[in-house]
Amino acid sequence: MTFSHDIVIVGAGGAGLMAALYAREGGADVAVVSKLHPLRSHTGAAQGGIGAALGNEEEDHWLWHAFDTVKGSDYIGDQDAIEIMCQDAPRTIVELEHYGVPFSRNKQGKISQRRFGGHTRNFGEAPVRRACHAADRTGHTILHTLYDQCVKNHVRFYDEFQVLDLLMTPDGETCGVVAYEILTGEIHTFHAKIVCFATGGYGRAFKTTSNAHAGTGDGMAIVLRKGLPLEDMEFVQFHPTGLYRLGILITEGARGEGGILRNNEGERFMERYAPTVKDLAPRDLVSQCIYKEIREGRGINGKEYVHLDMTHVGEDVLLHKLPEITVFSRTYMGIDPVKQPIPVAPTCHYAMGGIPTDHDGRVERAQRGSTVPGLYAVGECACVSVHGANRLGTNSLVDLVVFGRRAGIRMAQEIQDRRNEPKPLLPDDPQKPTRDLLDAILSRTEGEPVVAVRTDLQQTMMDNVSVFRNEETLTQALADLKALRERARRVVVRDKGKRFNTELMDAVEIGFMVDYAEAIAAGAKYRTESRGAHSREDYPQRDDEHWLKHTLFYSDGQGGYEFGDKKVIITRFQPKERKY
Ligand SMILES: Cc1cc2nc3c(=O)[nH]c(=O)nc-3n(C[C@H](O)[C@H](O)[C@H](O)COP(=O)(O)OP(=O)(O)OC[C@H]3O[C@@H](n4cnc5c(N)ncnc54)[C@H](O)[C@@H]3O)c2cc1C
Repeated sequence: MTFSHDIVIVGAGGAGLMAALYAREGGADVAVVSKLHPLRSHTGAAQGGIGAALGNEEEDHWLWHAFDTVKGSDYIGDQDAIEIMCQDAPRTIVELEHYGVPFSRNKQGKISQRRFGGHTRNFGEAPVRRACHAADRTGHTILHTLYDQCVKNHVRFYDEFQVLDLLMTPDGETCGVVAYEILTGEIHTFHAKIVCFATGGYGRAFKTTSNAHAGTGDGMAIVLRKGLPLEDMEFVQFHPTGLYRLGILITEGARGEGGILRNNEGERFMERYAPTVKDLAPRDLVSQCIYKEIREGRGINGKEYVHLDMTHVGEDVLLHKLPEITVFSRTYMGIDPVKQPIPVAPTCHYAMGGIPTDHDGRVERAQRGSTVPGLYAVGECACVSVHGANRLGTNSLVDLVVFGRRAGIRMAQEIQDRRNEPKPLLPDDPQKPTRDLLDAILSRTEGEPVVAVRTDLQQTMMDNVSVFRNEETLTQALADLKALRERARRVVVRDKGKRFNTELMDAVEIGFMVDYAEAIAAGAKYRTESRGAHSREDYPQRDDEHWLKHTLFYSDGQGGYEFGDKKVIITRFQPKERKY
């Protein structure tokens, strides 16, 4: 079938729903196409909080938030975008509350705020309480509230439709997407004036991750395959505290509420590395320190984890402010955090890089201003860039709502401006490339199962492209990915049916994963310095002279690629050495 809408938003997490709500309020006809039911989007898993300088607990200013974000980004976040985000955050929280988000309260009845890594008072003096939260289910409440609002405002939802291709005219104008309906196995065309990707992150490319199964980075790969670039893909965030071996997240809010990291000697080792903020140092630093402790033989019982000690925090705080992680520890590890320390190790968590956009979500093909007609991206799949080389905790949810809203407003405006124009023409037989791709997979009878290829991809990314990297590991990863590209083209699926053929979608996703995994590994090899989450053992220093710039990765889809550069915007804060 062919469906027709002004705007098609791909993805129903916080970013997609915020954009949909605002585009709809601006009068546009908006459809949201999502491979999951909207309420299963990863935004619903966000635990610890959403940052805004409300100052409910102690003095705070948006400029302090901006400074922390710039410093956290290791000075490569664009400061104009960061200023917009931090200035707009307090208003956005109030708005979310008015929509119905049940934030936790402090004793004065105001929205409760807690400490989080890298958030400080007065430009780095001491930790500040800035993270607004609803217990440790913040994302869950935001996602449910935004979904309610979208339904109420008649946003049209296409649930469990997986988008596999972006449609463009020969002149490079966006005209729609092609999607596979998971329930029926039918292929559909969506004809639109505007397409907005809000497809989330790619944590699933790594063996240990906090991300849900659907975090396979589809949107990034689809855009890359259209000859458009991905920005700063080398910056991958490892969250310091995943449950050992499982990767399930223990929110940084646990340390915000007083939790302490300890090594095998019982030492609070972060005191040595970050004397001012200690356990509340930013994630890049804490993850690197945990691995250093493990490498130097101070992992617990010589194993690859350390302890997160909450035993002094008290049962009341654990049950009321951190109920989710208390249950996770009990259920998955058989550990009661009230009485025992929790075994933790870094887990792949967040994509700082992604589809380059301007401040209104408009996708850019090269330098600033080179927007692609009708194409937008928001949320974790996009790169504005407010997170630079390392995102601060609580800043993703702010990014989703602030830039989701801006994109929604801008898209509605664009639809108004173009109201007398017809939609750009669809190509002849728009579904053909998708049909050919799926038919090829379904007709193959010999080859490897998807899971074998995916396991090897996740393993090489984990071994060679995680917290520490060097020339040798990255060369190995790229060689492995070259072989994996061939293997991914020959996977075989046992299920040849039409209804809920998730194995078929896995087979498509493995192709996507190879494409952007290559962008990550190649970007990491290209950037010969250490900055934020990108830590090169062979280039341990930050090198502002050569690398104070964004990278743009372009692929030919066959394993050939090239890089472009983009300037970093600096407004108020000149780069200096990062100390915590
Ligand atoms: C466990 C966990 C805890 C976190 N806690 C916090 C926190 O406390 N504070 C914070 O700021 N950040 C947190 N984060 C990060 C933050 O939650 C995410 O970065 C953010 O929610 C991503 O939102 P999104 O809207 O971009 O995408 P998502 O919420 O991931 O949604 C992606 C959407 O895209 C759809 N989709 C994907 N591919 C396709 C396709 N091919 N076709 C159709 N639809 C598609 C999916 O169905 C889904 O609806 C956390 C992340 C995790 C994993």
